[in-house]
Amino acid sequence: MVGRAVPHGAGARIVGRVTSVGSAASKYKVGDLAGVGCLVDSCRKCPPCSDGFEQHCEGGMALTYNGTEMDRQTPTYGGYSTQIVVDEGYVVRIPAGLDPPRPRPLLCAGITTYSPLRQANVKPGDRVGVVGLGGLGHMAVKLAASMGAKVTVFSTSRRRRPTRAGSAPSTSW
Ligand SMILES: [Zn+2]
Repeated sequence: MVGRAVPHGAGARIVGRVTSVGSAASKYKVGDLAGVGCLVDSCRKCPPCSDGFEQHCEGGMALTYNGTEMDRQTPTYGGYSTQIVVDEGYVVRIPAGLDPPRPRPLLCAGITTYSPLRQANVKPGDRVGVVGLGGLGHMAVKLAASMGAKVTVFSTSRRRRPTRAGSAPSTSW
């Protein structure tokens, strides 16, 4: 975050309604609820991009805020902008029935913790340990519990246990 465009607004958990679509776009229509996470573009050619791992783009992805577009000159201003233009390949569908602000954490802490749980093939009855119950940890507990795992939280803070354990089912400390 040092030495970048000023001013800029952070914000990489964007949920909003599609207000227009380009002529080549086909996945979304005006009015759809959509989300944008921490990246808005990548080279689209390297092996990670070809395998759906654009976050590991060998050419360097374009961050949603405090970065540049792939021309490495045009600043990206993030989710506090009044609007954003993103290729539909870097947009995720948000189910229409959801209250728009509620899924925003899934676009950052959610995917950050969902990915390793899914890659580890967590299934009912597995045991998952989560170190720390901050924003990521809390999301990891909820996701692992929703996958049927028995979750143990490792924390140095006794203060968090009574206040946060109630929203983290199947959890031991
Ligand atoms: Zn790439």
